Amino acid sequence: MSVNNTQPQAYRGRFAPSPTGPLHFGSLITAVASYCEAKSQQGQWFVRIEDTDIPRIESGSISHILACLEHFEFELDAPILYQKDRLDLYHQAIETLKQQQLVYACQCTRKMLGSNAIYSGACRHRQLDFEHQAIRVKVTDQAICFQDQLQGEHCSNLQQDLGDFVLLRRDGIFNYQLAVVVDDALQGITHVVRGADLLDNTARQIWLAQLLKAPTLNYMHLPLAMNKHGQKLSKQNLAQALDFNKAPQLIQHALQCLGQAPVELDRPSKMLKQAITQWSTEQIPRHTCLNGIFE
Ligand code: GLU
Repeated sequence: MSVNNTQPQAYRGRFAPSPTGPLHFGSLITAVASYCEAKSQQGQWFVRIEDTDIPRIESGSISHILACLEHFEFELDAPILYQKDRLDLYHQAIETLKQQQLVYACQCTRKMLGSNAIYSGACRHRQLDFEHQAIRVKVTDQAICFQDQLQGEHCSNLQQDLGDFVLLRRDGIFNYQLAVVVDDALQGITHVVRGADLLDNTARQIWLAQLLKAPTLNYMHLPLAMNKHGQKLSKQNLAQALDFNKAPQLIQHALQCLGQAPVELDRPSKMLKQAITQWSTEQIPRHTCLNGIFE
């Protein structure tokens, strides 16, 4: 199966942080790149807070995200959307899949599955009741391929690489893969620009979008910002929270990481405007970029 989107559409991009910690320099790279990509193509840019995984939400991180958006002076084309307000929509998507017998209840616990990363489909034919169980979606033995704007062609066979995967956890939490597909479709998103750490999720999302008859999206996976020790900046390795009082300097540095021509130090909105006029996707490095100044 090959996914190729050739129809011209009005560009609708988004930035979709999870409030599992404060935004860091890697998040800024994603925000700046998705914003400039959208705006340089006369597109719209939306922000969605991905707060479905309640146990992992860190108090204070939503207010940090909001403060960053304000201080970096990004212009949003609609009010921010919160996934926690949209749980009914994810339930409806599961219902649609249930009606077509594309999902099933699964009793296997993490302990039962052990270290086996590929789910064997043990519960596929057990016809378990859906109540209080995890729900998995069926996958098939075929390659799902897409053309990433920066990373080139990427293929994955979900059955061989992963097996049927969880959409709703036993504790009632919707999996990121489902929420992201439902929301991108309902928000009319056309282009996804995000970190390359999410590249491996894309085949799952394309598969779900096909099952839900959602439109195919265009993807661009950005280079990962590294610290001076060569580690990817992430919440796990305690990347420093963005200091929004240094917004102009941080914008300059993000643009440098993204291979873009420098912009003059000014107020953030002006710097972003200049960055949009000189924006060049071709200059973005493919894999990593160094954040040697602030980490
Ligand atoms: N919420 C995800 C994260 O913060 C990003 C989702 C996406 O851009 O598709 O890692």
